Amino acid sequence: MKKQFKAESKKLLDMMINSIYTNKEIFLRELISNASDAIDKLYFISLTEKKLKINRDDLEILISIDKDNRTIKITDNGIGMTKEELENNLGTIAKSGSQLFKESNDQNKNIDIIGQFGVGFYSAFMVSNKIIVNSKSIYDDKAYSWVSSGADGYTINENDKKSNGTEIILFIKENTDDINFDEFLTEETIEKIVKKYSDYIRYPIKLVQNKEKKSEEKTLNSMIPIWKKNKKDVKDEEYNDFYTDKFYDYEKPLKIIKSEVEGRCSYSSLLFIPSHAPYDYYTKEYEKGLQLYSKGVLIMEKCGDLLPDYFSFVKGLVDSEDISLNISRETLQENYQIELIAKSLESKIKKELEKMLKENRDDYEKFFTDFGKQLKFGIYSSYGLKKDTLQDLLLYFSSNDKKYVTLKEYVSNMKENQNIIYYACGESLEKIELLPQVEMVKDKGYEILYLTDYMDEFVIKTLMNYEGKEFMNVSDEKMDLDTKEEKENLNKINEKNKDMFNIMKDFLKNKVSSIQFTHKLKNHPVCLTTKGDVSVEMEKVLNTMQNENNIKAEIIMEINENHEISKKLESLYKNNEKDKLEKYTKILYAQARLIEGLSIENPTEISNLVCEILANK
Ligand code: ADP
Repeated sequence: MKKQFKAESKKLLDMMINSIYTNKEIFLRELISNASDAIDKLYFISLTEKKLKINRDDLEILISIDKDNRTIKITDNGIGMTKEELENNLGTIAKSGSQLFKESNDQNKNIDIIGQFGVGFYSAFMVSNKIIVNSKSIYDDKAYSWVSSGADGYTINENDKKSNGTEIILFIKENTDDINFDEFLTEETIEKIVKKYSDYIRYPIKLVQNKEKKSEEKTLNSMIPIWKKNKKDVKDEEYNDFYTDKFYDYEKPLKIIKSEVEGRCSYSSLLFIPSHAPYDYYTKEYEKGLQLYSKGVLIMEKCGDLLPDYFSFVKGLVDSEDISLNISRETLQENYQIELIAKSLESKIKKELEKMLKENRDDYEKFFTDFGKQLKFGIYSSYGLKKDTLQDLLLYFSSNDKKYVTLKEYVSNMKENQNIIYYACGESLEKIELLPQVEMVKDKGYEILYLTDYMDEFVIKTLMNYEGKEFMNVSDEKMDLDTKEEKENLNKINEKNKDMFNIMKDFLKNKVSSIQFTHKLKNHPVCLTTKGDVSVEMEKVLNTMQNENNIKAEIIMEINENHEISKKLESLYKNNEKDKLEKYTKILYAQARLIEGLSIENPTEISNLVCEILANK
C-alpha cells in the first residue's frame, strides 16, 4: 500500500525533485553524514551494552556504482532503522531541517539552505528518480525496505537483509539538456565528492570496484578528523563547510578558534562563533554545549559543562585523550578534566573576542549586536563576579556620533576633571537623544552612553564603577554640572519657593516626592529625575516582571528656572490663582511623564485642561 508524505515533507520533496539548485553533488555528503551518524550511534550504544559485540575496525561505509543499471549504493553497518523509524524518519523531514525550512519562505532562501545547510536524506531526490532504503535495526530481527519514486508516496515492505545497518540505492536520473547526471555514475566523480566533503569522516568510506571480475575496495577518505589536521592544511572553506554541516547553520561562522593543548589535560578543540544568533537563542529551549569526543569517538552531543553561560553561543567540539569513553552525564559534572578544559576554553574564547574587538571592529560589532545581551547577562547574573572577565567586552552607543564605544574608550575620552561616566536610558537612541536632561550634559561637552537594552541599567548598577569612575544616570536627581556659586544661587531660589512647591505637590496627590527648579535643562521646561537606586527605566522593567510590581522610583519633578514657565508659576502663586496653578502643575507633570516614555494616568483630564487654557487665551 502506498503511503503519502506529510505535507511539509512533500513540499520539500517537490523542491528537491524539481530542484534548480546546481550543486547537486552535496547529496552524497548528506547520505554519508547520515551513515556516519548511524555508525556513531551503534558504537556509542556498544560502549554500555556489553551484549553488542562491535569491533571498531569493522565499521565502514561502502559505495558501489552500477553503470548499467544506473544505480549508486551506499551501505553502512550502523544502527539501522526499524519499520517505525523508516516511516517516521524518512516520511517526515528532519527536525533540524524542518525548522529552518519553516523559517525561510522565499524560494531563493530555500536554495541557500539546500546548499549551505543541507536538508538531509531528501536531497538524494535531486539526482534520483527512485530510492530504495533497505534497513535492519539492531533492535529488530526483521529488515524492511522503503521505496519511493518521489512525491506520489512510498511503500514499506519486509525484506531479507541479514546484517545490521542501512543500504541506500539511488536510481540516477537520465541526462537532461542542461544536466549531466551520468557523471555521478563515474568513480572519479564519486571519489572527488567524497574527498571534498567527507574526508574527515572517521570511518572508512570505501569505493567497491569491480576489476576483472574481482571486487576490490579503495578507501577514499583520510579519516583524520578536521580538528586533528594542521591548521595550515585546512582551508577556511573546509572549516566553514564542517561548521554549517555539523552545527545546523546556514551561514558560515564569524570566527573559527582552533587549538591544541598539551598539559595536565591534553585536548584539541575546534570552536566557532556563529555569525548570527540562532532563532531560539534567547529562549529556554536553547541548550548550550560542545560536542565531546574521546580519542576521536563522539561521547556526548552537547556537553554544557564545557561552556560558561555567558559564552553559550559558542559551537564546536572538544576531543581529549584524557577523558574516558565511559564517562556518564552524572560523573561529568565532578570531572576534574572537564573543569580544566572548560577553564582553558573560557580564556581562549575571551582572548579571541578581545582580539576581534581590537583588530576587526566591524565583526565584533556584528557579534555584539547578536550576543551582547548574553555577556551583559553574565555580569548581572553573577552579581558582578564576572565583571573582570566581561566588562571590557561590552559596547554602548555613545552620544558622539551614536557609535559603539567600550568603557575603556569612554574613560580615555573623558574631559579633564571628569570623574563620572554619564549614561541615559530609553527605548531607542532617538528617544534618548530627545530627553531634556541629555541636552545640557552634551552641551557642556560630556559624552553620554545611550542605554537601550532593558537590562542595561541593571548591569551598570552591578558594575558599580569602571576603573574607579562611578556611573551616573543623567536623569538622576544628583546630576549636577553647576559651579558652586550657581548651586548656592539655585538653592536660595528653591528655598524661597518652597511653599509654592508644596502646594503643587499636593495638587499631584504626592505622585512626586518633591518639586524644584533646576538649571540642568537648557531649553526644555520640565523633566522628571529620580532619587535613590531605582530609575524610571528600571521601574518600567521591574513592573513588567511578575512579583516585582509596586517597585516605585522616587520621582522628582524639576522645572527649568530659566524658562518663562517658572516666572508664570511664581506669579500665579503670588496672585493666589490657585485654580490655574493646579491646572498648570498637572499639565507640566503630564508632559514630563510623556517625555520620559511613561503613560499619563488620566489623558482625558489633561486634554480638557490643555483645551481650557488654549480657549482662555
Ligand atoms: P538529519 O540527518 O538532519 O536528521 P535526514 O533527513 O538526513 O535528516 O535523516 C532523517 C533521519 O533518518 C535521521 O535523523 C536518522 O534518524 C535517520 N537516518 C537517515 N539515514 C540513516 C542511516 N543510514 N541509518 C540510520 N538512520 C538513518
